[in-house]
Amino acid sequence: ENGLARNACPPPLPQPVKIPEIKHTKIFINNEWHTSIKGKKFPTINPATGVKICDVEEADKADVDEAVRAARAAGQRGSEWRLMDASSRGRLLHRLADLLERERLNRIIKTLRYYAGWTDKIHGKTMPVDENFVCFTKHEPVGVCGAIIPWNFPLLMFMWKIAPALACGNTVVIKPAEQTPLTALHVGAIIKEAGFPPGVVNIVPGFGPTAGAAIASHMNIDKVAFTGSTEVGQLIKAAAAKSNLKRVTLELGGKNPCIVFADSDLQSAVEETQKGAFFNQGQACTAASRIYVEEPVYDEFVRLSVERAKNIVIGDPLEPRTSHGPQIDQHQFDKILELVDSGKKEGAMLECGGCAVEDRGLFIHPTIFSDVKDHMRIAKEEIFGPVQCIMKFKTQEEVINRANSSHYGLTAAVFTRDIHRAMSVSAAMEAGTVWVNCYNALHAQAPFGGYKMSGNGRELGEYALAEYTEVKAITMKLSEQLTL
Ligand code: NAD
Repeated sequence: ENGLARNACPPPLPQPVKIPEIKHTKIFINNEWHTSIKGKKFPTINPATGVKICDVEEADKADVDEAVRAARAAGQRGSEWRLMDASSRGRLLHRLADLLERERLNRIIKTLRYYAGWTDKIHGKTMPVDENFVCFTKHEPVGVCGAIIPWNFPLLMFMWKIAPALACGNTVVIKPAEQTPLTALHVGAIIKEAGFPPGVVNIVPGFGPTAGAAIASHMNIDKVAFTGSTEVGQLIKAAAAKSNLKRVTLELGGKNPCIVFADSDLQSAVEETQKGAFFNQGQACTAASRIYVEEPVYDEFVRLSVERAKNIVIGDPLEPRTSHGPQIDQHQFDKILELVDSGKKEGAMLECGGCAVEDRGLFIHPTIFSDVKDHMRIAKEEIFGPVQCIMKFKTQEEVINRANSSHYGLTAAVFTRDIHRAMSVSAAMEAGTVWVNCYNALHAQAPFGGYKMSGNGRELGEYALAEYTEVKAITMKLSEQLTL
Protein backbone atom coordinates (compact mmCIF):
# COMPACT_ATOMS: atom_id res chain seq x y z
CA GLU A 1 0.00 0.00 0.00
CA ASN A 2 2.99 2.27 0.61
CA GLY A 3 3.51 2.37 -3.18
CA LEU A 4 0.02 3.69 -3.75
CA ALA A 5 0.62 6.40 -1.18
CA ARG A 6 3.89 7.42 -2.84
CA ASN A 7 2.47 7.58 -6.35
CA ALA A 8 -1.01 8.79 -7.17
CA CYS A 9 -2.73 6.85 -9.96
CA PRO A 10 -2.38 8.46 -13.44
CA PRO A 11 -5.20 10.53 -15.05
CA PRO A 12 -8.17 8.90 -16.83
CA LEU A 13 -7.52 6.95 -19.99
CA PRO A 14 -8.30 8.08 -23.54
CA GLN A 15 -11.33 6.58 -25.23
CA PRO A 16 -10.76 3.62 -27.57
CA VAL A 17 -10.72 4.20 -31.33
CA LYS A 18 -13.09 2.49 -33.77
CA ILE A 19 -12.56 -1.23 -34.27
CA PRO A 20 -11.44 -2.14 -37.82
CA GLU A 21 -13.62 -4.28 -40.07
CA ILE A 22 -13.10 -8.04 -39.55
CA LYS A 23 -13.23 -10.05 -42.80
CA HIS A 24 -12.31 -13.59 -41.76
CA THR A 25 -13.88 -15.53 -38.91
CA LYS A 26 -14.03 -19.08 -40.28
CA ILE A 27 -11.84 -22.18 -40.23
CA PHE A 28 -9.24 -22.11 -43.03
CA ILE A 29 -8.73 -25.51 -44.71
CA ASN A 30 -7.59 -26.19 -48.28
CA ASN A 31 -7.58 -22.43 -49.01
CA GLU A 32 -11.32 -22.31 -48.27
CA TRP A 33 -13.37 -20.94 -45.39
CA HIS A 34 -15.37 -23.52 -43.45
CA THR A 35 -17.96 -23.45 -40.71
CA SER A 36 -17.39 -25.66 -37.69
CA ILE A 37 -18.56 -29.27 -38.13
CA LYS A 38 -20.27 -29.16 -34.74
CA GLY A 39 -21.79 -25.79 -35.62
CA LYS A 40 -20.09 -24.01 -32.72
CA LYS A 41 -18.72 -20.48 -32.47
CA PHE A 42 -16.83 -18.57 -29.80
CA PRO A 43 -16.54 -14.86 -29.11
CA THR A 44 -13.40 -12.75 -29.47
CA ILE A 45 -13.25 -9.98 -26.91
CA ASN A 46 -11.34 -6.69 -27.09
CA PRO A 47 -9.46 -6.70 -23.77
CA ALA A 48 -9.21 -2.90 -23.76
CA THR A 49 -12.98 -2.46 -23.65
CA GLY A 50 -14.49 -5.83 -22.73
CA VAL A 51 -16.63 -5.52 -25.87
CA LYS A 52 -17.09 -8.50 -28.21
CA ILE A 53 -15.38 -7.95 -31.57
CA CYS A 54 -17.07 -10.87 -33.36
CA ASP A 55 -17.81 -14.60 -33.16
CA VAL A 56 -15.39 -17.09 -34.71
CA GLU A 57 -16.10 -20.61 -35.98
CA GLU A 58 -14.83 -23.07 -33.38
CA ALA A 59 -12.69 -25.93 -34.64
CA ASP A 60 -12.86 -29.18 -32.71
CA LYS A 61 -11.40 -32.66 -33.28
CA ALA A 62 -13.42 -33.33 -36.46
CA ASP A 63 -12.30 -30.04 -38.01
CA VAL A 64 -8.68 -30.79 -37.07
CA ASP A 65 -9.08 -34.17 -38.82
CA GLU A 66 -10.22 -32.37 -41.98
CA ALA A 67 -7.30 -29.95 -41.77
CA VAL A 68 -4.82 -32.81 -41.32
CA ARG A 69 -6.31 -34.64 -44.32
CA ALA A 70 -5.86 -31.49 -46.42
CA ALA A 71 -2.30 -30.97 -45.18
CA ARG A 72 -1.39 -34.62 -45.81
CA ALA A 73 -2.77 -34.48 -49.37
CA ALA A 74 -1.01 -31.19 -50.10
CA GLY A 75 2.36 -32.64 -49.12
CA GLN A 76 2.05 -36.13 -50.62
CA ARG A 77 4.35 -37.53 -53.31
CA GLY A 78 3.60 -35.98 -56.70
CA SER A 79 1.71 -32.99 -55.24
CA GLU A 80 2.26 -29.49 -56.57
CA TRP A 81 3.94 -28.48 -53.29
CA ARG A 82 6.20 -31.52 -53.22
CA LEU A 83 7.24 -31.08 -56.84
CA MET A 84 7.85 -27.35 -56.56
CA ASP A 85 11.51 -26.37 -57.02
CA ALA A 86 13.12 -25.24 -53.80
CA SER A 87 13.88 -21.84 -55.33
CA SER A 88 10.24 -21.44 -56.42
CA ARG A 89 9.20 -22.19 -52.84
CA GLY A 90 11.51 -19.37 -51.78
CA ARG A 91 9.91 -17.01 -54.31
CA LEU A 92 6.46 -17.93 -52.95
CA LEU A 93 7.56 -17.11 -49.40
CA HIS A 94 8.95 -13.77 -50.67
CA ARG A 95 5.65 -13.08 -52.43
CA LEU A 96 3.83 -13.64 -49.13
CA ALA A 97 6.29 -11.24 -47.48
CA ASP A 98 5.53 -8.61 -50.18
CA LEU A 99 1.80 -8.91 -49.49
CA LEU A 100 2.36 -8.66 -45.73
CA GLU A 101 4.36 -5.48 -46.36
CA ARG A 102 1.35 -4.10 -48.18
CA GLU A 103 -0.69 -4.89 -45.05
CA ARG A 104 1.96 -3.17 -42.85
CA LEU A 105 2.51 -6.38 -40.87
CA ASN A 106 6.13 -5.35 -40.53
CA ARG A 107 7.21 -7.19 -37.41
CA ILE A 108 6.82 -10.61 -38.97
CA ILE A 109 8.32 -9.99 -42.39
CA LYS A 110 11.99 -10.35 -41.46
CA THR A 111 11.40 -13.90 -40.21
CA LEU A 112 9.64 -14.81 -43.43
CA ARG A 113 12.28 -13.31 -45.72
CA TYR A 114 15.05 -14.95 -43.70
CA TYR A 115 13.50 -18.40 -44.22
CA ALA A 116 12.61 -17.63 -47.85
CA GLY A 117 16.35 -17.36 -48.40
CA TRP A 118 16.94 -20.82 -46.93
CA THR A 119 14.67 -22.89 -49.20
CA ASP A 120 17.37 -23.82 -51.73
CA LYS A 121 20.23 -23.97 -49.23
CA ILE A 122 18.99 -26.90 -47.17
CA HIS A 123 21.24 -29.77 -48.20
CA GLY A 124 22.96 -32.90 -46.99
CA LYS A 125 26.53 -34.20 -46.97
CA THR A 126 28.57 -36.96 -48.58
CA MET A 127 30.23 -39.33 -46.10
CA PRO A 128 33.58 -41.08 -46.78
CA VAL A 129 32.37 -44.60 -45.92
CA ASP A 130 34.57 -47.72 -46.20
CA GLU A 131 34.81 -50.02 -49.24
CA ASN A 132 32.95 -49.54 -52.50
CA PHE A 133 29.95 -47.60 -51.21
CA VAL A 134 28.75 -44.07 -51.81
CA CYS A 135 26.85 -42.56 -48.89
CA PHE A 136 25.08 -39.22 -48.80
CA THR A 137 22.31 -37.54 -46.83
CA LYS A 138 19.21 -35.68 -47.99
CA HIS A 139 17.18 -33.34 -45.82
CA GLU A 140 13.50 -33.97 -46.43
CA PRO A 141 10.36 -32.35 -45.00
CA VAL A 142 9.05 -33.94 -41.78
CA GLY A 143 5.52 -33.97 -43.25
CA VAL A 144 2.46 -32.48 -41.56
CA CYS A 145 3.53 -30.03 -38.86
CA GLY A 146 1.06 -29.12 -36.13
CA ALA A 147 1.50 -25.82 -34.32
CA ILE A 148 -0.21 -24.49 -31.20
CA ILE A 149 0.47 -20.86 -30.38
CA PRO A 150 -0.31 -18.44 -27.53
CA TRP A 151 -2.14 -15.12 -27.38
CA ASN A 152 0.70 -12.83 -26.31
CA PHE A 153 2.31 -12.39 -29.76
CA PRO A 154 -0.29 -13.91 -32.08
CA LEU A 155 1.24 -12.82 -35.39
CA LEU A 156 4.88 -13.27 -34.47
CA MET A 157 4.31 -16.77 -33.10
CA PHE A 158 2.33 -17.66 -36.22
CA MET A 159 5.28 -16.66 -38.39
CA TRP A 160 7.94 -18.28 -36.17
CA LYS A 161 6.08 -21.55 -36.72
CA ILE A 162 5.02 -21.44 -40.36
CA ALA A 163 8.10 -19.80 -41.94
CA PRO A 164 10.69 -22.52 -41.15
CA ALA A 165 8.08 -25.26 -41.67
CA LEU A 166 7.25 -24.02 -45.19
CA ALA A 167 10.87 -23.24 -46.08
CA CYS A 168 11.65 -26.93 -45.46
CA GLY A 169 8.70 -28.02 -47.64
CA ASN A 170 6.30 -29.16 -44.89
CA THR A 171 2.58 -28.53 -44.65
CA VAL A 172 1.00 -26.98 -41.57
CA VAL A 173 -2.07 -27.22 -39.33
CA ILE A 174 -1.91 -24.31 -36.89
CA LYS A 175 -4.14 -23.45 -33.96
CA PRO A 176 -4.09 -19.85 -32.78
CA ALA A 177 -4.95 -19.16 -29.12
CA GLU A 178 -8.66 -18.90 -28.36
CA GLN A 179 -8.15 -15.29 -27.19
CA THR A 180 -6.53 -14.18 -30.47
CA PRO A 181 -7.71 -16.03 -33.60
CA LEU A 182 -8.25 -13.05 -35.92
CA THR A 183 -4.73 -12.12 -37.04
CA ALA A 184 -3.93 -15.71 -38.01
CA LEU A 185 -7.12 -15.89 -40.12
CA HIS A 186 -6.27 -12.57 -41.76
CA VAL A 187 -2.86 -13.94 -42.76
CA GLY A 188 -4.59 -17.12 -43.99
CA ALA A 189 -6.40 -15.07 -46.62
CA ILE A 190 -3.08 -13.51 -47.68
CA ILE A 191 -1.42 -16.94 -47.89
CA LYS A 192 -4.14 -17.93 -50.37
CA GLU A 193 -3.70 -14.69 -52.31
CA ALA A 194 0.06 -15.29 -52.51
CA GLY A 195 -0.64 -18.53 -54.38
CA PHE A 196 0.23 -21.30 -51.93
CA PRO A 197 -1.39 -24.56 -53.07
CA PRO A 198 -4.54 -25.58 -51.15
CA GLY A 199 -3.84 -27.46 -47.91
CA VAL A 200 -0.27 -26.23 -47.43
CA VAL A 201 -1.37 -24.00 -44.53
CA ASN A 202 -4.54 -24.76 -42.55
CA ILE A 203 -5.76 -22.68 -39.61
CA VAL A 204 -8.03 -24.14 -36.93
CA PRO A 205 -9.22 -21.55 -34.41
CA GLY A 206 -10.41 -23.22 -31.22
CA PHE A 207 -9.69 -24.16 -27.62
CA GLY A 208 -6.76 -26.02 -26.09
CA PRO A 209 -8.37 -29.10 -24.56
CA THR A 210 -10.35 -29.75 -27.80
CA ALA A 211 -8.63 -28.54 -30.99
CA GLY A 212 -5.19 -28.23 -29.35
CA ALA A 213 -5.33 -31.69 -27.79
CA ALA A 214 -6.51 -33.13 -31.13
CA ILE A 215 -3.34 -31.82 -32.77
CA ALA A 216 -1.03 -33.05 -30.00
CA SER A 217 -2.48 -36.58 -30.07
CA HIS A 218 -3.12 -36.87 -33.82
CA MET A 219 -1.84 -40.06 -35.43
CA ASN A 220 -1.28 -38.35 -38.78
CA ILE A 221 0.66 -35.29 -37.63
CA ASP A 222 4.43 -35.79 -37.74
CA LYS A 223 5.61 -32.95 -35.57
CA VAL A 224 4.11 -30.44 -33.15
CA ALA A 225 5.57 -27.07 -32.22
CA PHE A 226 4.11 -25.41 -29.14
CA THR A 227 4.55 -22.06 -27.42
CA GLY A 228 2.75 -21.44 -24.13
CA SER A 229 2.76 -22.49 -20.50
CA THR A 230 5.07 -25.14 -19.10
CA GLU A 231 2.07 -27.10 -17.77
CA VAL A 232 0.46 -27.39 -21.20
CA GLY A 233 3.87 -28.14 -22.73
CA GLN A 234 4.07 -31.19 -20.48
CA LEU A 235 0.58 -32.29 -21.61
CA ILE A 236 1.57 -31.93 -25.25
CA LYS A 237 4.74 -33.95 -24.88
CA ALA A 238 2.81 -36.68 -23.06
CA ALA A 239 0.09 -36.73 -25.76
CA ALA A 240 2.72 -36.93 -28.49
CA ALA A 241 4.43 -39.81 -26.70
CA LYS A 242 1.17 -41.71 -26.20
CA SER A 243 -0.03 -41.29 -29.79
CA ASN A 244 2.50 -41.61 -32.63
CA LEU A 245 5.71 -40.34 -30.98
CA LYS A 246 5.52 -37.23 -33.13
CA ARG A 247 8.46 -34.88 -32.74
CA VAL A 248 7.89 -32.09 -30.25
CA THR A 249 9.44 -28.66 -29.88
CA LEU A 250 8.41 -26.54 -26.91
CA GLU A 251 8.85 -22.85 -26.09
CA LEU A 252 7.62 -22.44 -22.53
CA GLY A 253 7.79 -20.06 -19.60
CA GLY A 254 10.65 -18.14 -18.08
CA LYS A 255 11.68 -16.35 -14.89
CA ASN A 256 14.45 -14.46 -16.53
CA PRO A 257 17.29 -12.97 -14.48
CA CYS A 258 18.98 -9.66 -15.31
CA ILE A 259 22.26 -8.90 -13.56
CA VAL A 260 23.21 -5.25 -13.28
CA PHE A 261 26.81 -4.64 -12.16
CA ALA A 262 27.91 -1.37 -10.59
CA ASP A 263 30.20 -0.64 -13.55
CA SER A 264 27.36 -0.68 -16.08
CA ASP A 265 25.82 2.30 -17.88
CA LEU A 266 23.15 2.61 -15.21
CA GLN A 267 20.67 4.76 -17.14
CA SER A 268 20.75 2.32 -20.03
CA ALA A 269 20.43 -0.69 -17.69
CA VAL A 270 17.38 0.94 -16.07
CA GLU A 271 15.77 1.49 -19.47
CA GLU A 272 16.53 -1.91 -20.92
CA THR A 273 15.46 -3.90 -17.84
CA GLN A 274 12.28 -1.91 -17.45
CA LYS A 275 11.34 -2.23 -21.10
CA GLY A 276 12.06 -5.93 -20.65
CA ALA A 277 9.76 -6.12 -17.64
CA PHE A 278 6.84 -4.09 -18.99
CA PHE A 279 6.97 -4.87 -22.73
CA ASN A 280 3.53 -6.16 -23.82
CA GLN A 281 2.31 -5.52 -20.24
CA GLY A 282 4.74 -8.17 -19.00
CA GLN A 283 2.99 -10.81 -21.11
CA ALA A 284 6.18 -12.23 -22.59
CA CYS A 285 8.04 -15.45 -21.93
CA THR A 286 11.20 -13.32 -22.08
CA ALA A 287 9.95 -10.84 -19.44
CA ALA A 288 12.76 -9.41 -17.30
CA SER A 289 11.28 -10.68 -14.08
CA ARG A 290 14.22 -10.96 -11.64
CA ILE A 291 16.51 -7.96 -11.62
CA TYR A 292 19.63 -8.37 -9.48
CA VAL A 293 21.46 -5.09 -8.85
CA GLU A 294 24.91 -4.81 -7.30
CA GLU A 295 24.83 -3.17 -3.87
CA PRO A 296 26.65 0.14 -4.58
CA VAL A 297 24.17 1.18 -7.32
CA TYR A 298 21.06 -0.53 -5.94
CA ASP A 299 19.32 2.51 -4.42
CA GLU A 300 19.99 4.66 -7.48
CA PHE A 301 18.75 1.90 -9.78
CA VAL A 302 15.46 1.62 -7.84
CA ARG A 303 15.01 5.41 -7.82
CA LEU A 304 15.59 5.73 -11.57
CA SER A 305 13.33 2.75 -12.33
CA VAL A 306 10.43 4.22 -10.35
CA GLU A 307 10.93 7.61 -12.00
CA ARG A 308 10.84 5.99 -15.43
CA ALA A 309 7.74 3.93 -14.64
CA LYS A 310 5.79 7.10 -13.87
CA ASN A 311 6.11 8.24 -17.47
CA ILE A 312 4.44 5.14 -18.91
CA VAL A 313 1.25 6.10 -20.77
CA ILE A 314 -1.60 3.73 -19.95
CA GLY A 315 -4.41 3.61 -22.50
CA ASP A 316 -6.09 1.99 -25.43
CA PRO A 317 -3.61 -0.02 -27.52
CA LEU A 318 -5.04 1.45 -30.73
CA GLU A 319 -3.99 4.96 -29.59
CA PRO A 320 -0.51 5.73 -30.95
CA ARG A 321 0.72 7.47 -27.76
CA THR A 322 -0.19 4.51 -25.53
CA SER A 323 2.72 2.51 -24.18
CA HIS A 324 0.83 0.24 -21.77
CA GLY A 325 -2.43 -1.57 -22.57
CA PRO A 326 -4.66 -4.12 -20.85
CA GLN A 327 -3.89 -7.69 -19.80
CA ILE A 328 -5.39 -10.29 -22.12
CA ASP A 329 -8.28 -11.61 -20.02
CA GLN A 330 -9.83 -11.86 -16.56
CA HIS A 331 -7.97 -15.06 -15.73
CA GLN A 332 -4.54 -13.50 -16.33
CA PHE A 333 -5.61 -10.26 -14.63
CA ASP A 334 -6.70 -12.11 -11.45
CA LYS A 335 -3.57 -14.28 -11.44
CA ILE A 336 -1.29 -11.22 -11.67
CA LEU A 337 -3.06 -9.30 -8.89
CA GLU A 338 -2.99 -12.39 -6.67
CA LEU A 339 0.79 -12.62 -7.14
CA VAL A 340 1.14 -8.87 -6.49
CA ASP A 341 -0.76 -9.38 -3.20
CA SER A 342 1.56 -12.24 -2.29
CA GLY A 343 4.52 -9.87 -2.81
CA LYS A 344 2.98 -7.32 -0.45
CA LYS A 345 2.20 -9.99 2.15
CA GLU A 346 5.65 -11.59 1.94
CA GLY A 347 7.26 -8.24 2.71
CA ALA A 348 8.59 -6.90 -0.59
CA MET A 349 8.65 -3.09 -0.84
CA LEU A 350 5.99 -1.83 -3.23
CA GLU A 351 7.58 1.16 -4.96
CA CYS A 352 4.77 1.96 -7.41
CA GLY A 353 1.64 0.50 -8.97
CA GLY A 354 0.45 -2.67 -7.29
CA CYS A 355 -3.19 -2.26 -8.31
CA ALA A 356 -5.63 -2.30 -11.19
CA VAL A 357 -6.50 0.92 -12.99
CA GLU A 358 -9.73 2.08 -11.42
CA ASP A 359 -12.93 1.50 -13.42
CA ARG A 360 -11.06 0.23 -16.40
CA GLY A 361 -11.46 -3.49 -16.96
CA LEU A 362 -8.23 -5.36 -17.38
CA PHE A 363 -5.60 -2.61 -16.97
CA ILE A 364 -2.94 -2.98 -14.26
CA HIS A 365 -0.54 -0.20 -13.26
CA PRO A 366 3.12 -0.91 -13.99
CA THR A 367 4.33 -2.25 -10.65
CA ILE A 368 7.79 -2.20 -9.08
CA PHE A 369 8.80 -4.16 -6.00
CA SER A 370 12.20 -3.61 -4.40
CA ASP A 371 13.77 -5.59 -1.56
CA VAL A 372 12.50 -8.78 -3.16
CA LYS A 373 13.92 -11.95 -1.59
CA ASP A 374 14.63 -15.18 -3.47
CA HIS A 375 12.11 -17.24 -1.48
CA MET A 376 9.15 -14.97 -2.32
CA ARG A 377 6.58 -16.21 -4.84
CA ILE A 378 7.08 -13.11 -7.04
CA ALA A 379 10.76 -14.09 -7.34
CA LYS A 380 10.01 -17.68 -8.29
CA GLU A 381 6.76 -17.85 -10.29
CA GLU A 382 6.16 -16.56 -13.79
CA ILE A 383 3.87 -13.55 -13.27
CA PHE A 384 3.13 -12.74 -16.93
CA GLY A 385 2.14 -9.22 -15.91
CA PRO A 386 3.67 -5.74 -15.54
CA VAL A 387 5.63 -6.45 -12.37
CA GLN A 388 9.32 -5.62 -11.96
CA CYS A 389 11.08 -7.35 -9.05
CA ILE A 390 14.36 -5.76 -7.95
CA MET A 391 16.86 -7.54 -5.70
CA LYS A 392 20.27 -6.69 -4.27
CA PHE A 393 23.50 -8.71 -4.63
CA LYS A 394 27.07 -8.42 -3.36
CA THR A 395 29.34 -10.78 -5.32
CA GLN A 396 29.51 -12.20 -8.84
CA GLU A 397 29.60 -15.79 -7.62
CA GLU A 398 26.58 -15.23 -5.38
CA VAL A 399 24.49 -13.66 -8.14
CA ILE A 400 25.33 -16.38 -10.67
CA ASN A 401 24.07 -19.04 -8.27
CA ARG A 402 20.95 -17.08 -7.46
CA ALA A 403 20.21 -16.34 -11.13
CA ASN A 404 20.53 -20.03 -12.00
CA SER A 405 18.39 -21.28 -9.12
CA SER A 406 15.22 -21.68 -11.18
CA HIS A 407 13.52 -24.53 -13.02
CA TYR A 408 13.30 -22.15 -15.95
CA GLY A 409 16.17 -21.26 -18.29
CA LEU A 410 14.86 -19.18 -21.17
CA THR A 411 16.78 -15.89 -21.20
CA ALA A 412 19.18 -13.91 -19.02
CA ALA A 413 20.82 -10.50 -19.26
CA VAL A 414 24.06 -8.99 -18.01
CA PHE A 415 24.85 -5.29 -17.74
CA THR A 416 28.52 -4.38 -17.35
CA ARG A 417 31.29 -2.45 -19.09
CA ASP A 418 33.83 -5.19 -18.33
CA ILE A 419 34.17 -7.55 -21.32
CA HIS A 420 35.73 -10.33 -19.22
CA ARG A 421 32.88 -10.20 -16.73
CA ALA A 422 30.35 -10.11 -19.59
CA MET A 423 31.93 -13.23 -21.10
CA SER A 424 32.23 -15.23 -17.89
CA VAL A 425 28.77 -14.40 -16.57
CA SER A 426 27.17 -15.18 -19.98
CA ALA A 427 28.99 -18.50 -20.00
CA ALA A 428 27.71 -19.28 -16.50
CA MET A 429 24.04 -18.54 -17.25
CA GLU A 430 21.78 -21.58 -17.64
CA ALA A 431 19.68 -19.99 -20.37
CA GLY A 432 19.12 -20.40 -24.10
CA THR A 433 19.65 -16.69 -24.76
CA VAL A 434 21.91 -14.24 -22.93
CA TRP A 435 21.73 -10.52 -23.68
CA VAL A 436 24.68 -8.29 -22.80
CA ASN A 437 23.87 -4.59 -22.27
CA CYS A 438 20.57 -5.02 -24.10
CA TYR A 439 17.22 -6.79 -23.73
CA ASN A 440 14.71 -8.55 -25.99
CA ALA A 441 17.14 -8.27 -28.89
CA LEU A 442 15.62 -11.09 -30.97
CA HIS A 443 16.70 -11.70 -34.54
CA ALA A 444 15.47 -14.17 -37.16
CA GLN A 445 19.09 -15.32 -37.64
CA ALA A 446 19.70 -16.23 -33.98
CA PRO A 447 18.28 -19.36 -32.34
CA PHE A 448 15.75 -18.96 -29.55
CA GLY A 449 14.71 -21.55 -26.97
CA GLY A 450 15.05 -22.70 -23.42
CA TYR A 451 17.25 -24.71 -21.09
CA LYS A 452 15.60 -26.78 -18.35
CA MET A 453 11.79 -26.43 -18.08
CA SER A 454 11.69 -23.50 -20.50
CA GLY A 455 11.50 -25.85 -23.44
CA ASN A 456 12.94 -28.30 -25.93
CA GLY A 457 14.50 -27.47 -29.27
CA ARG A 458 15.20 -24.13 -30.90
CA GLU A 459 13.21 -21.77 -33.08
CA LEU A 460 14.64 -19.24 -35.53
CA GLY A 461 18.02 -19.22 -37.22
CA GLU A 462 19.64 -22.12 -39.02
CA TYR A 463 19.06 -24.27 -35.92
CA ALA A 464 15.29 -24.36 -36.50
CA LEU A 465 15.79 -26.08 -39.88
CA ALA A 466 16.85 -29.26 -38.07
CA GLU A 467 13.48 -29.27 -36.26
CA TYR A 468 11.60 -29.23 -39.58
CA THR A 469 13.58 -31.77 -41.60
CA GLU A 470 14.14 -35.51 -41.57
CA VAL A 471 17.63 -36.67 -42.51
CA LYS A 472 17.83 -39.57 -44.91
CA ALA A 473 21.10 -41.47 -45.45
CA ILE A 474 21.32 -43.09 -48.89
CA THR A 475 24.01 -45.73 -49.28
CA MET A 476 24.79 -47.11 -52.77
CA LYS A 477 26.93 -50.11 -53.47
CA LEU A 478 29.11 -49.69 -56.54
CA SER A 479 29.90 -52.76 -58.63
CA GLU A 480 33.58 -52.02 -58.34
CA GLN A 481 35.91 -49.83 -56.32
CA LEU A 482 36.20 -46.27 -57.64
CA THR A 483 39.43 -45.63 -59.48
CA LEU A 484 41.13 -42.72 -57.74
P1 NAD B 1 -1.63 -22.01 -22.40
O1 NAD B 1 -0.37 -22.73 -22.37
O2 NAD B 1 -2.81 -22.60 -21.70
O3 NAD B 1 -2.10 -21.71 -23.92
C1 NAD B 1 -1.22 -21.65 -25.03
C2 NAD B 1 -1.84 -22.42 -26.20
O4 NAD B 1 -2.02 -23.79 -25.83
C3 NAD B 1 -3.22 -21.92 -26.61
O5 NAD B 1 -3.35 -22.02 -28.01
C4 NAD B 1 -4.14 -22.93 -25.95
O6 NAD B 1 -5.39 -23.06 -26.59
C5 NAD B 1 -3.35 -24.21 -26.07
N1 NAD B 1 -3.72 -25.24 -25.10
C6 NAD B 1 -4.19 -25.10 -23.84
N2 NAD B 1 -4.44 -26.30 -23.29
C7 NAD B 1 -4.09 -27.24 -24.20
C8 NAD B 1 -4.11 -28.67 -24.22
N3 NAD B 1 -4.53 -29.36 -23.17
N4 NAD B 1 -3.67 -29.29 -25.32
C9 NAD B 1 -3.23 -28.60 -26.39
N5 NAD B 1 -3.22 -27.25 -26.44
C10 NAD B 1 -3.62 -26.57 -25.36
O7 NAD B 1 -1.37 -20.56 -21.85
P2 NAD B 1 -2.48 -19.58 -21.23
O8 NAD B 1 -3.49 -20.27 -20.40
O9 NAD B 1 -3.00 -18.78 -22.33
O10 NAD B 1 -1.57 -18.77 -20.25
C11 NAD B 1 -1.23 -19.35 -19.00
C12 NAD B 1 0.19 -19.08 -18.66
O11 NAD B 1 1.04 -19.60 -19.68
C13 NAD B 1 0.59 -17.63 -18.60
O12 NAD B 1 0.27 -17.06 -17.38
C14 NAD B 1 2.04 -17.69 -18.84
O13 NAD B 1 2.70 -17.99 -17.65
C15 NAD B 1 2.19 -18.83 -19.78
N6 NAD B 1 2.34 -18.42 -21.19
C16 NAD B 1 3.56 -18.47 -21.73
C17 NAD B 1 3.73 -18.07 -23.04
C18 NAD B 1 5.06 -18.08 -23.68
O14 NAD B 1 5.28 -17.34 -24.64
N7 NAD B 1 5.99 -18.91 -23.27
C19 NAD B 1 2.66 -17.62 -23.78
C20 NAD B 1 1.39 -17.62 -23.21
C21 NAD B 1 1.25 -18.01 -21.91
